[in-house]
Amino acid sequence: MDVRIGNGYDVHALADGLPMFLGGVAIPSERGFVAHSDGDVAIHALCDGLLGALALGDIGKHFPDSDPRYKGIDSKRLLEQVMALVREQGWAVGNVDLIIALQAPKLAPHIPAMRQTLASILGVEADQVSVKATTTERLGFVGREEGCEVWATVLIKK
Ligand code: MG
Repeated sequence: MDVRIGNGYDVHALADGLPMFLGGVAIPSERGFVAHSDGDVAIHALCDGLLGALALGDIGKHFPDSDPRYKGIDSKRLLEQVMALVREQGWAVGNVDLIIALQAPKLAPHIPAMRQTLASILGVEADQVSVKATTTERLGFVGREEGCEVWATVLIKK
């Protein structure tokens, strides 16, 4: 069996009055992510991990933020397009592991829905999708509630 790994990382700033989407799920919050798309920083990191495993560049190359087609787009559509590239080359997802660093709100209640939503797009079971959330103990830009950062590790196989 052939396997490859990829890493992804993304950051988005938080601002008042915007919707918050993470891992394909709408999170009740008075603040959301500043972005050209819906700002789903978790999906963006995951897309970059998958593209990295394929050595196909990054999400900015495939979905430029200068392109009006991607204005406000549901990031689940971007992940579907990345998965089409994965499948075209004969690969399937083995597992993915995400770390979301966000000070507030608490994400624990939403993690099962994120895992299920991502698993269905990735074509795997929820037990192949790990989503972990952490605060940064009020340190740094995450701790000051200025933004969110996400790291993704993916393994693909054929
Ligand atoms: Mg992004």
